[in-house]
Parts: sequence; structure tokens; C-alpha cells
Amino acid sequence: MPDRPRAIVHIDLDAFYAAVEVLENPDLAGKPVLIGGRGRGVVAAASYPARTFGIRSAMPMFKALERCPQAIVLPPRFSLYRDYSRQVMEILHQASPLVEQISIDEAYLDLTDQVTAWEESVEIASSLQARVIDDVGLSASLGVATNKLVAKVASDHDKPGGLTVVQPGAEAAFLALYLAVQDKCSAAGAITVGCGTKDSGETGQDRNHDGQRTGAATQGRTESAFWQTWKRDGPAGAGS
Ligand SMILES: [Mg+2]
Repeated sequence: MPDRPRAIVHIDLDAFYAAVEVLENPDLAGKPVLIGGRGRGVVAAASYPARTFGIRSAMPMFKALERCPQAIVLPPRFSLYRDYSRQVMEILHQASPLVEQISIDEAYLDLTDQVTAWEESVEIASSLQARVIDDVGLSASLGVATNKLVAKVASDHDKPGGLTVVQPGAEAAFLALYLAVQDKCSAAGAITVGCGTKDSGETGQDRNHDGQRTGAATQGRTESAFWQTWKRDGPAGAGS
């Protein structure tokens, strides 16, 4: 192993099943789309427009439809999703022989041996993100860091379409800030759905007063506040 920081990328496709259905039927673009069975099933995936109603994956479908009766419900088409997943993974395999797929829409790449300077991994991640959009049509969020844990956390906090880089040496500060902001948001209690997320120009249509860190709303708020602090203060913000 080379005597320098590892370059790990985590890639996570955004609202994957729903995004594939929108690709297959562009009339669905911008609409609340839920993947799953009607009746007693749960939501397997929700498009971002659906999430602005406070709908999230694994929520009972009847509950989701209470929040958004006009949502379009589609049965999952797993073989179709696997085809798209395969296309994305092929792109990743072209960047590195070390690809660890962890689910249908998530993978780690180890770029350590593909780069001579750590920063090159950021350029590679950026080009992979562009290729996944250009060649496959899907939006992905990526994190670049020196280990898998931090890369995964990084990819998660700026969805959809984010590319978050945690420079070598900034890992602990990044995680500390991330947790601190999550604590502040959960302590704040009432959360307005859709506030502050970059994907929702929409106004909040629902409120969550239980203060739990559940759903896109809390996450959106957390991520937005986090991102602002991180951009402004960088690792130094972790202590605040
Ligand atoms: Mg995903």
C-alpha cells in the first residue's frame, strides 16, 4: 500500500428507482412518484418532489398517500433497475479495478492506486458523476475521503447531486461537525418539511413536531445548515 492517504469515493444514486421510472417516462418529471405496492406495502422509493411532502422510503404506502394523495404509485420493476445499475457500475469499473458494490444503487471505489496526488481523486469523482448523468441519465451524490465511513457520510449530506470532499486530515472535524449539527436540529424539535434543501424550492406542506431525526425534512435541514457551516468555517467550524 502506498505511503499516502487512501482515496475513497462513495457514490449513491439519488432516489434511484423513482429516477429510473422518470427516465423511462419523462411525463413523470417533477411529479411526486412513489415506487411500491398500493395497500399494505411500504414506499420502496420516493422522488424528490414526493419527499417535499414528508414522504420517505420505508414509510407505509397508506401513510404516504395521506400526505400526498395525488402521488403517482408505480409497482417496482427490479429487472429494469438492475439494468440501469449495471450501466452505472460499468462506468465505475472503468475508473478503478477496486469497486465494492454494496447495494443496487451504491458503491465504493478505491482510487488510491489510480492517482499520483490525492486531489486527482476529486477530479475523477467529478467526471464519474458527469458520466453517470450524461451516459445513463441518473443523478448521483458522491463523497470523497480517505476512508469508507467518511466517504459515505460525505455523499449523504448533500443530496441530490452533491460532490462532497473531505480532505486528508479533516475527517474528525467533518464528523464532529456533522454530528453537532444533527444534534442541534433534533434538539430544535419542530421541523418544516423541505426547508433549506437545495432540491426544494417548494414550500413545506407538512410539519414534523416529534423532533425525531426521520425523513427528508430533518435531513434536508441538517444538510443545509451543515453545508453552510462547513463552507464558511471549514474544519474549524466543528468546535462551534
Ligand atoms: Mg440511493
